[in-house]
Amino acid sequence: MRIVVSGGAGFIGSHLTDRLLAEGHRVVVIDNFITGSRNNLSQHEGNDRLVIIEHDISKPIYLAEKVDRIYHLASPASPIDYQKLPIQTLKVGALGTHNMLGIARHHKARILLASTSEVYGDPEVHPQVESYWGNVNPVGPRGCYDEAKRFAEALMVAYRNAHAVDIRIIRIFNTYGPRMRLNDGRVVPAFISQALRGEPLTLFGDGSQTRSFCYVSDLVEGIVAAMERGDQNPINLGNPAEITIRQFAETIRRLAGSTVPLVERPLPQDDPRRRRPDITRARTLLGWEPTTSLEEGLRKTLEWAKEAIR
Ligand code: NAD
Ligand code: UDP
Repeated sequence: MRIVVSGGAGFIGSHLTDRLLAEGHRVVVIDNFITGSRNNLSQHEGNDRLVIIEHDISKPIYLAEKVDRIYHLASPASPIDYQKLPIQTLKVGALGTHNMLGIARHHKARILLASTSEVYGDPEVHPQVESYWGNVNPVGPRGCYDEAKRFAEALMVAYRNAHAVDIRIIRIFNTYGPRMRLNDGRVVPAFISQALRGEPLTLFGDGSQTRSFCYVSDLVEGIVAAMERGDQNPINLGNPAEITIRQFAETIRRLAGSTVPLVERPLPQDDPRRRRPDITRARTLLGWEPTTSLEEGLRKTLEWAKEAIR
């Protein structure tokens, strides 16, 4: 197939591109490198089944050659990135999604939106099921990201209803692994680089908030399964193993063989208290669930980070 990956030079997008190329597909990555990097795809240099187009998808783009699938991942994703880039984040969720849907409609291609657990905001339902509508503060620091993704989901549904576009919506929960930017501010690269550099691990608040971390290769399996075997309703993708951020810091410190202290820093406004996916739908519809344990995934990520830091 000929497959478009918007945001294909980012963390998840580059792993997805690896996977699609390995399966023999032709891949067109569209990325403006605002939070990603060409280096994430340098392993494919010379592969004529990969085309990289440098373009801001919030501006229209026309692709003449037939497209079969569109994985729409382009968007700043780390809280530091999207708070630095609030307008670009809202534009890519709205205009960027509109432009990708335009390509899908033109080519009768199936399109998958990478949405997020952030559509549930600071959730009052736990674990989060797809039928939950969420608890989002539109004017808080996370509003630009959460509302962009909520709008993007609504636009996908509008194109399905108005133009019969074949849609997929996945809601990705915290995912980690090699190629995260070590300074993107997310908790995995933050703790790993602090531990490896011998700096204190910065716990926001008292570290009692929870997250559930999915290793990137598991997620990529789920993304492809959702595209090929999913239906048109949202599907949570993530690892349901929930852990407090304090326990998570202690785990990383132990695996890194470090003895640095944990220090508390102010908890950012609207930081979700608890997050854990209910993946019943992904299990039953896709036959998918994560298989990489947290320790195994963190060991692989630490190995990669040691090289990246050098
Ligand atoms: P990332 O920042 O590494 O990747 C995003 C990519 O999109 C980057 O390469 C960036 O340059 C590109 N991009 C951003 N705006 C663009 C624009 N206007 N035009 C073209 N390219 C643009 O982030 P990631 O962690 O790989 O996230 C990928 C997707 O998955 C995002 O849509 C994100 O919202 C979603 N997601 C990720 C997680 C996670 O834990 N990593 C969780 C939930 C949702
Ligand atoms: N966090 C932390 N220390 C850091 C970075 C993040 O304690 O240096 C916390 C953050 O407050 C949140 C959790 O770790 O509760 C996950 O943060 P991240 O930015 O990775 O993503 P989020 O799930 O909040 O979008």
